[in-house]
Amino acid sequence: MQELRPSIRSIVNISMEPILINSLSNRILADFMRCPYRFYWKNLRKKGGAQTEWREVVQYIVNQVIQDFYQSPVEKRSAFQILHLIENHWRIGIDLFGSKQEYYTVLAKVTDHLMQYLHRSEGLYPPLFLNEKINVYSEELQTQLSTSIQVSHWTNKTYNIKKYLVTDEQSVIDLYKHFMIVFSYEAFQVLPEYIEVVSLIHGKTSTVFPTMKDVEQSTDYLRVMIEVLKDPKNYFQANSNGTCRSCPFLDECSTDKMEKTAPSPIQQPFFS
Ligand code: SF4
Repeated sequence: MQELRPSIRSIVNISMEPILINSLSNRILADFMRCPYRFYWKNLRKKGGAQTEWREVVQYIVNQVIQDFYQSPVEKRSAFQILHLIENHWRIGIDLFGSKQEYYTVLAKVTDHLMQYLHRSEGLYPPLFLNEKINVYSEELQTQLSTSIQVSHWTNKTYNIKKYLVTDEQSVIDLYKHFMIVFSYEAFQVLPEYIEVVSLIHGKTSTVFPTMKDVEQSTDYLRVMIEVLKDPKNYFQANSNGTCRSCPFLDECSTDKMEKTAPSPIQQPFFS
């Protein structure tokens, strides 16, 4: 696997106390990776709680579609059924998106790629896990790891983990793989034969066949991320058109405001 260190840089010098982290999920880490500033406003300042982002809602819809798909009899599964499930579950307002064009583009891509990949996925046997939320404490990282395994099946050697992600960001896809390597080893003491991530935005799949060496490297990766996350001095603004376009914290997004309103000291427990 490549990219063993998180692509996080520090450009803002803010004086704040370290954060106490006692629980982490891949979703929270992905949030942080996308934009530490937005992460700060959303998770630490708890602002805009009602302003969910489209990516989260679409991911929730996808989880529901996948659950219904795998819970239906094998003979009933078809591309048409997937279309029908998407139609049933697609409850999301256009106003969550940066523009109408973005809304329709996401709808088209998610529909197309779900039909393409879910339809031909394995499924003769019931999944080992299906949208199953699991927590495990990692002694190595001194924190609880929490995630939801979207789909997992037994394989000839062990088991697999499959995730349909509503993103095309390579850093988030890599993060997911690192997180799941550590998580699955900590939770089951047996590595999955492979972890496959399907990007529902660009429609590509990415697979890793983890080894014990990957467990060490992925643990190091998470350790670095935790260290960066603990210290708000490391938080910076993403300044990316794609990320900022639909950000609910545009108003708060200035270094001055963050310096003025930073809680002091931050010693709050951090929950996923
Ligand atoms: S506007 Fe952009 S840089 Fe500012 S918090 Fe939102 S995503 Fe981050």
